[in-house]
Amino acid sequence: MPDTAKSRAATLAHLRSAGFAKGDPIPLPLTMASIFHAPGDATGFDQYGRFSNPTWHAVEHALGHLEDAQCVAFPSGMAAISAAFFAIVKSGDRVLLPSDGYHTTRALAERFLKPFGVGYDVRPTASMLDGSFAGYRAVFVESPSNPRLDICDIIAVAKAVHAQGGVLIVDNTTMTPFGQRPLDLGADIVVSADTKAINGHSDVLFGHVASRDADIVARVKDWRETAGGIPGPFEAWLVHRGLETLEVRFDRMCSSAETIARRLKGHRAVSGLRFPGLEGDASHNLARAQMERFGFLISFELASEEQAEAFIDGCPLIEAATSFGGVHTSAERRSKRGDAVPPGFVRLAIGCEPVEELWQAIETSLDRVTS
Ligand SMILES: *Cc1c(COP(=O)(O)O)cnc(C)c1O
Repeated sequence: MPDTAKSRAATLAHLRSAGFAKGDPIPLPLTMASIFHAPGDATGFDQYGRFSNPTWHAVEHALGHLEDAQCVAFPSGMAAISAAFFAIVKSGDRVLLPSDGYHTTRALAERFLKPFGVGYDVRPTASMLDGSFAGYRAVFVESPSNPRLDICDIIAVAKAVHAQGGVLIVDNTTMTPFGQRPLDLGADIVVSADTKAINGHSDVLFGHVASRDADIVARVKDWRETAGGIPGPFEAWLVHRGLETLEVRFDRMCSSAETIARRLKGHRAVSGLRFPGLEGDASHNLARAQMERFGFLISFELASEEQAEAFIDGCPLIEAATSFGGVHTSAERRSKRGDAVPPGFVRLAIGCEPVEELWQAIETSLDRVTS
């Protein structure tokens, strides 16, 4: 079978079967254990819950199958991002971050990396290549950026960062391995908040680090074991279960987003609409070249804070919630989370509802608040 997104999706559900003995459960058993039977030589098996756990192995194997890389699981996206930094940087290094990405990554640099002697600079995603990468131990990009959905050329950034001896980390949360493959584009490390589409049911926080570099993976594992921020086995089990339907959910979400973005763009009350899948969007040509899908996030502006709040609250098929990637369509006015966007700026995260019903509800709410 050629290695494609479809072949990876098809084999994902059967990864466990190679190791089956007669009578084994086909779905993944959950192992809740801090200690394991450990007589004699202390290598080559699960011994203590901070070091490893059979349920982690299963979710890391499944994530690794999709990433085509080794994966290390973490209890949240931020735990994965922290691990990537602490595994790579040391005092005296500098890092470069997106000025328009997930804000907590910048907070981590300001409040924890800086006091340890790791400086940082920021640069907008859309102009990531307009400037040098000299002197940066690690460059972190998020493409599409959250919430404005600008993108940067990951292949070109990887080449330029490597030419200066740096490491490229890509936050691939919004796209998942089915929507974009940063390691194939030259990134050294992928970090992901599996809290979002990978788990997909809005009931767990989780994250992972993926890399094809054995030294990086060893450092990241050592960080987890030593610092002790480990995922719970039950959360790992839930993410493993969510992963089994990721391809179906993500396909529905991305297809619906393409339809809804096009229709929203034609609505008189909507301005500044951004969706990488729309011809004419500033991100479109690059998105076609480097992304497998265009994602499920759409951003746009309504005239005022009041209009945006009334649109979100008045739509029965939109949950007013921060975060995204669950089965429920959700939306948020991002200026209330401190993003540098206008008060009527809405980030709409398309879920798994049937698209015509979803559009009807969105259009009705928009018409009601803007007529
Ligand atoms: C949510 C998110 C994170 C952080 O994930 P948590 O699981 O909340 O820690 C990081 N990056 C991006 C792009 C996100 O959307």
